[in-house]
Order: sequence, then structure tokens, then C-alpha cells
Amino acid sequence: MMRSTMPYLAALAVIVAGCQNAPVTGRNQLMLVPESQAIEASSQAYAEVLAPIQQAGKLNDNAAMKARVDKITARLVAQAVQYRPETESWDWQVAVIDEPKTLNAWCMAGGKMAIYSGIITQLELSDDEIAQIMGHEIAHALAKHTTERMSTAMASQTALQIGAMLLGSKGTGGAMALQAAAVATTVGVQLPNSRAQESEADRIGIELAAKAGYDPHAAPRLWGKMLEATGSRGQSDFLSTHPQSEKRQAALAELIPQMMPYFDDKTPRPAYRFKTA
Ligand SMILES: [Zn+2]
Repeated sequence: MMRSTMPYLAALAVIVAGCQNAPVTGRNQLMLVPESQAIEASSQAYAEVLAPIQQAGKLNDNAAMKARVDKITARLVAQAVQYRPETESWDWQVAVIDEPKTLNAWCMAGGKMAIYSGIITQLELSDDEIAQIMGHEIAHALAKHTTERMSTAMASQTALQIGAMLLGSKGTGGAMALQAAAVATTVGVQLPNSRAQESEADRIGIELAAKAGYDPHAAPRLWGKMLEATGSRGQSDFLSTHPQSEKRQAALAELIPQMMPYFDDKTPRPAYRFKTA
């Protein structure tokens, strides 16, 4: 009996210790997975996701587009670091993936981001609009959403092996690390965020963008464009992980007056220096 109840008690202790609050919104979060672990798994997952894209010659191959995305993202990350200074040491990265038909963007734990060329070209995005997308994605990392979702996965039956790893099982480290990376990819790239995480990322994202000098009016406009572009063709990847609703646009529009003082501030906007290209 001891063998089966001890891990349960240990798991319970982790759950009790695992409640935290999100930055900016203060929303209560269940955190069973240490963020450091989610970041490590995401770093591995990021390399695995990007390798075949690089082999296909579709990674950062448009220098002008890459420079544009870098410039905008660097200003947003500099603002993110203001909320969580320890994230300055993260190896924040942004990849521009050359897929003209794909409307998507994502960010894993530890600030490992990607945006697809299709969303920029098809929606004819302005810098302000790109900033809203990347601000939203950065907000997911800043508010530890991948970590939170890995925690939720761990709490479910399907992720028992990850639980075993975290509770100190003697399982093979390499295999466990691979599995953690797979979970990081699944929750960070493929599965939709919860509604609470989405509205939190909207709320934090528009603020990061305004503080980085990007017009908050672009936020509801971006979602309108997204819906217009995909309405006729069915779902885009981005909309499948970021469900659109008129409520969402209205909530962003409501935030604009509150964001304008940040946007109107004339002090120079700092930029994060990417450690890895
Ligand atoms: Zn999102």
C-alpha cells in the first residue's frame, strides 16, 4: 500500500504548493511543473519543430521580413522584462517561417516564438498589428501558460509518466525528457489555450504593445482582419488555437482608452538584444 499511496501524497503536496498568480491580472494558476522544467522542455521542442523547417529552406529566409519581426519583437520583449526581470536571461527567440498559406504564430515557455509569413502577407499586417500578435504570444510565455498547461496535462491520466518523472521516478532520463518536449509542443503549439488564458494574453499583450510604442487600435482591427480573411476559407491554424469572438474584439476595444497614455508616451522605447539569431 505504501508504494501506491506515497506518490499520491507527494502529488498532493505538489498540487498544494503549486498555486501561483499570473502577472498583471493576478489570476490564480495551478503550477505543478516548475517553470524551469517547462522552459527546458520547450527549448528542446523548439529545436525539434524548427529543424525540418530549416531543412526545407523555410526558416528566416526572407531577411527583410525577419528584420521587421525582430525589431518589433525586441521592443515587446523589453517591455515583458519590465514585468518579470528574471526573464531578461531567457534566450528569447523569434523564427519567421516561410509558409505563405499559413496564418499562425505561437510562443512556447521561455520565449521561444514563431510567426508564419502567411499571416503577415495575407492580412497585409502593419507593424502595429504584428505587435499585437507578438505581444499576445509573449504574454502567453510571460504568464507561464505553457507551464500551466503542462501542469494541467500532468494532472490528467494521459501524462502520468511526466508525473512520475517529476516525482523522482528512476525512469530513463532521456526518454522522459523527450516526452516532456512532446508535451511542450502539444500544449504550446497545437492545442488551444483556455478562454481564461486567451483573455489574459489579450489583456497583457495590448499593454506590452502600447508600452513598446504600438497603437492599441490595431488589436481589435487585427482580430477583425483575421475573421474576414478566414471566414470565407474556413479555419486558420491561428483561429483554431485562438477562438475568435466578437466579445474578444469588444474587450480589446474597451481597453484602448486605458492603453493610450502608454502609447502616447514619447520616451524612447528600449529593445531587447536577442542572444541567438
Ligand atoms: Zn493565444
